[in-house]
Amino acid sequence: MGKGRDTLILGVDLGGTKILTAVSGAQGKMLSRDHSITPAREGPEAVVKSILESARRALSQARVAATDLAAVGVGAPGLSNPETGILFTSPHLPGWKDVPLRDIIERELSRRAFLINDADAAALGELYYGAGKGARNFIYITVSTGIGGGIVIDGEIYTGASGMAGELGHMVIEAEGPPCNCGNRGCWETLASGTALAAEARRRIKEGAATAILEYAGGELERVTAQAVQQAAQAGDKLAGELISRVAYYLGVGLANLVNIFNPELIVIGGGLSNMGDRLLEPAFREAERRAFAQASRAVRFARAELGRNSGVLGAIAYALEKIKAEKTGPVPS
Ligand SMILES: [Zn+2]
Repeated sequence: MGKGRDTLILGVDLGGTKILTAVSGAQGKMLSRDHSITPAREGPEAVVKSILESARRALSQARVAATDLAAVGVGAPGLSNPETGILFTSPHLPGWKDVPLRDIIERELSRRAFLINDADAAALGELYYGAGKGARNFIYITVSTGIGGGIVIDGEIYTGASGMAGELGHMVIEAEGPPCNCGNRGCWETLASGTALAAEARRRIKEGAATAILEYAGGELERVTAQAVQQAAQAGDKLAGELISRVAYYLGVGLANLVNIFNPELIVIGGGLSNMGDRLLEPAFREAERRAFAQASRAVRFARAELGRNSGVLGAIAYALEKIKAEKTGPVPS
């Protein structure tokens, strides 16, 4: 109580498959952490119920009452407006349409709540507590089944005119490239994600390419994943190595675009595929350096994300902290 009392925030990282909630102080030290499955197929009501149950477990684990919280930060996938707190749609959450998620959480927990896109949350997490500490102009990208990202300009997340900015995975890299879930073609994530890597591996195997990749997928073509390709590459499989080089190449092409457009001081890469490490990232960074303007290339540093699975939940917490701080301070008089 009193002087040393920390500002407590509850963070929620809502994903298509998992819900992560945590209670943390302003320094990002988590007092508790609860992990559960998203009942995505059961629709919004069931998902909201699961969020609230997880939140209550995280609170009791931290021995904190909801009334002790300064605010709640929620990171969610899909298209949302941080100003209105409405989640419009999400490819990972079937049945969600214009759900006022922020207001629902506020009502149920009787605390101020803030909604942010999950990739933007992850960017803020790395900015406040991870690899991006101290950066003013930085880009976070997460490479896993797709590619997501967040853009920080002058120390603040850039959300664009209607909250849509930062759809980095849908930057077109090859105008007539593979079809994307978004309806366009040749998007970055159709060429440089884990899904892209697995799809290309399956295509080459079907064509009869000599490779041991199938052995790492239990002999079944449908079970070929990015991980199987990585394992085969580690064992010296030539095709697996080539496929990873190809993904690295496209990753580098996209990175070069980001370097030229934003002139960031730092690009942080997270997500499952980035765990491949140097085999993937080193050639990608070299490709980016080859293509980008030399002056912009010299200014940028590439780094691996540091927070792993906690980046989203910590970022949601950072966002809520930032918001309540701004409200207390009010607009800066000019
Ligand atoms: Zn797309």
